[in-house]
Amino acid sequence: MRLGRSRRSDNVIDARGRSRAGRSAAIGCGPLIVVAILAMVFGADPSDILQMLGESGGSGTAQVEQAPPQNDEASEYIRRVLGETEDVWEDVYPAATGQPYQEPALVLYDRVYPTACGTGTAATGPFYCPLDQRVYLDLSFFNQLAQMGGRGDFAPAYVIAHEVGHHVQNLTGVLEQSQRYRGDSRVSVAVELQADCYAGAWAHHADEQRDVLDESDVQEGIDAAAAVGDDAIRGGAVPPDALSHGTSRQRVEWFLRGYRSGDMRTCDTFN
Ligand SMILES: [Zn+2]
Repeated sequence: MRLGRSRRSDNVIDARGRSRAGRSAAIGCGPLIVVAILAMVFGADPSDILQMLGESGGSGTAQVEQAPPQNDEASEYIRRVLGETEDVWEDVYPAATGQPYQEPALVLYDRVYPTACGTGTAATGPFYCPLDQRVYLDLSFFNQLAQMGGRGDFAPAYVIAHEVGHHVQNLTGVLEQSQRYRGDSRVSVAVELQADCYAGAWAHHADEQRDVLDESDVQEGIDAAAAVGDDAIRGGAVPPDALSHGTSRQRVEWFLRGYRSGDMRTCDTFN
């Protein structure tokens, strides 16, 4: 990627090195539910997160001291990628919906962190919490992703853009509507594929506006989307009613659909 001209977002909360604070903070979210498959796929399904909250009663936003920012290469990269999502969606979202875009925050943490949706852990993988409108990211996931075949500097950007895609779905009301069909794998898959499509649409505009993609980036996005397909993760075909995020083929297809059109209205995965 070429992020030299990209603006750094002010919405990154760097909480790395604060995991003890995370563990001791009283957040009253009940026991952590570990869903093995979701743990391996980035982005716990938002409906599962909401379900988890429904079961445990929730708690509102947890109180955790802010750590001083660490200005390392990783946080610099994350700030610029998040800044790119802000600049694109600030432009594209109102044009498509007639509504203003509200920026999400992104929390960088390691190991354990309390969130309004329950405790985030490295095993959860990156996820978006609609209740506090934050993306939670443990950087160790990107090593896992690389081992699964999602390599290159665009792969983490695709993951961040996918989670921001869930934030866009929160703004449009899709996440809330999907709650009515909780447990229906078709709806869960449609939600996830739409977030992939939004990630593609973001890449289209970021490249068009600021030339951020280099020659290998689209292929890296394709590889990353394929690496986190349900069948790739389980190592074989998955019955349709057991899908949660979509097959590798579906994930690649929708990422590319968004990338080619640049229009969020083409991301109609529910029909
Ligand atoms: Zn997701």
